[in-house]
Amino acid sequence: MITELSATMISSYKRCYRRFYLEYVEDLKPLASSEALSIGSSYHENLENILKGQEFNHDGLAGKMAEAFQKYVDYTSWQAAPEQDFKIRLARGLYLKGRLDAVTQDGFPVEHKTTGNAGLEKYIDHLAYDDQIALYMLVTGKERAIYTVIQKPTIRLKKDESEEEYLERVSQWYDTEPEKKILTLSVVRTKSELEEKRQEIIYLAKEMRHRKLYYRNPTACTITSCPYASICLNYEPDIQLTGFYKKERKSDELCRF
Ligand code: SF4
Repeated sequence: MITELSATMISSYKRCYRRFYLEYVEDLKPLASSEALSIGSSYHENLENILKGQEFNHDGLAGKMAEAFQKYVDYTSWQAAPEQDFKIRLARGLYLKGRLDAVTQDGFPVEHKTTGNAGLEKYIDHLAYDDQIALYMLVTGKERAIYTVIQKPTIRLKKDESEEEYLERVSQWYDTEPEKKILTLSVVRTKSELEEKRQEIIYLAKEMRHRKLYYRNPTACTITSCPYASICLNYEPDIQLTGFYKKERKSDELCRF
């Protein structure tokens, strides 16, 4: 049996078995993506173009965020190739698949994050435990990764303010204490930490294959807004759902389970 896992799949499984069941066993995906997700994906597209040395879309909040990245992140020294697909074998029949935001010329993985939270310090603390970045180090065989975090603007459109005036204010907001809004971090793991992570994924994959009960984790719903909350309590596989569609496993997702 072949098992292919991605970092988001592992994160879903560790966060809440019920969510994992809906997302990866039942293959359900929410139809509408939230505004936050769409800003995040437009921002990532912009960064891909910036790293390729190409023009990017300056429109909207994602455009202003990308302009701030271009201004305050020293990305040129990375000489990074963006959006690199990967598939590596972790053990017999077990593969890790996904896409890296970028890989530097020296082979270090680069990961870009956006956050709605003020105070980026929590990211620095959290990175010591971050799974995704450790997985990307396993993929690249490096013990270091580059991590960029940008805070989404906390200022809102004022009454009687045009969109253009608002976006100009957003640019000024980034120009004020940018070091508190955009961080570039170097994350390090030891060889033994990475081996421990590899063993953890192997263990989790075995557990996933044999799991029969996908119970809820109410702690997870209070911390994050879960896109599956509307069907968490009363999901019936045979009843047609509104607001979700069934994923075409091979085309919609990079992983299969
Ligand atoms: S709403 Fe909460 S319990 Fe339900 S799937 Fe989401 S995280 Fe899990």
